Amino acid sequence: MPDFDTVLHPEFLIPMVPRREVMTGHSVAIREGRITAILPRQEAQDADAGEHIDLPQCALMPGFINLHCHAAMSLLRGYADDVPLMTWLQRYIWPTESHFISEDFVRDGSDLAIADLLMSGTTTLADQYFFPEITAESVDRSGLRALLTFPVIDVETAWARDAESCINRGLALRDQYRDHDRIDVGFGPHSTYMVSEKTLSRVAMLAEELDASIQIHLHETREEVLTSVERSGLRPIDFLEQVGLLGPRTQCVHMTALGEQDIETVATHGAHVVHCPRSNLKLGSGICPVQKLLDRGINVALGTDGAASNNRLNMLGELQTASLIGKSQHGDAKAVDAWTALEMATLHGASALGLEEQLGSIEVGKSADLIALDLSGLQHLPRHNLASSLVYASSGNEVKWSWVAGKPLVTAGKLQTLDYTDLAARAGHWSEQLGAFRTTLES
Ligand SMILES: [Zn+2]
Repeated sequence: MPDFDTVLHPEFLIPMVPRREVMTGHSVAIREGRITAILPRQEAQDADAGEHIDLPQCALMPGFINLHCHAAMSLLRGYADDVPLMTWLQRYIWPTESHFISEDFVRDGSDLAIADLLMSGTTTLADQYFFPEITAESVDRSGLRALLTFPVIDVETAWARDAESCINRGLALRDQYRDHDRIDVGFGPHSTYMVSEKTLSRVAMLAEELDASIQIHLHETREEVLTSVERSGLRPIDFLEQVGLLGPRTQCVHMTALGEQDIETVATHGAHVVHCPRSNLKLGSGICPVQKLLDRGINVALGTDGAASNNRLNMLGELQTASLIGKSQHGDAKAVDAWTALEMATLHGASALGLEEQLGSIEVGKSADLIALDLSGLQHLPRHNLASSLVYASSGNEVKWSWVAGKPLVTAGKLQTLDYTDLAARAGHWSEQLGAFRTTLES
């Protein structure tokens, strides 16, 4: 039996730990899904391995951890653009979802999203959508790694009658995947405006008992904050604190319209923040003060949000946007620098999932969740600064290779576990159905 299953020989190695370093002349050896050695090139070329893969002009780095998505909503990409959040939700998204959401919709949307995610470098996804058991099957088949936070809302949906039924179905799913090595299941209470205080308290109690992750949309817009104050006298973040839902297992998604006290509250409870810059910009929602949060020691990860409000699932695009709006917002070119953006998409994502021992960097013992980006394009020349090139000059098409737990999912630019022709046919079918329905919404 060879010493290693696979040895990768990239031109550049960006391990993320040690921090802010680009290495050359090194190779990465994988065995049984884990990184087992980082070797000087000469030694690595002679190593006894099942397979050697040369990656000329490529940078090898840990795969991106996309901390917020609604994968199945890929079928609604471009469906209702250029309208504000509440119009977008109330006039278009919610009526369409209540008409169409089904196992087929979620299967086709999830498969389309996963293909898109893999081709742009995501190797771990945190997703929240109805029929998470169907998304789990898509994730399982595709080889991706995921945290699926099952939706908890009080109103009836195609998936569940009420909040109690959401929780029962979600916990059954959590049980089903208890021993799965790539799929984890947590709680996804939608927001403080879609879930009652009683349900949020119950989620807090159960999540603590089960040591499960919680992901919630929070402070997405200034209006959300104002409405909450009018309704309960509390800002959403304070409401969450009051029901006991704010802690180191909590991932707060969006987090715009934050005052100094809100930031202190997040820091005190050790909660994580998930920044979705393109979705926030597109919906005109507000901007998360990322650098301020980081300076206060808060862990900030990155997410794309669903394709209906982005319209891409491309983490390189989020890195670039996070960095650019961070500078603009702080009036400081040093804010959210290129390496910080890369750390948010790798190390910080791993911490938010409680998987910092397994993911987020190329270190011996960690899972071989890796991507190789082809930097031969003219936009990457000359290569004065690789981090800058990845964050500011990437088109999103650079990712040519992807592995999760050592298994190749994208090889030389080709998907290995999903079929493009099949995905395109299924997207075409939904395009017709959804397009006809939208016409009725607008008439
Ligand atoms: Zn969302």
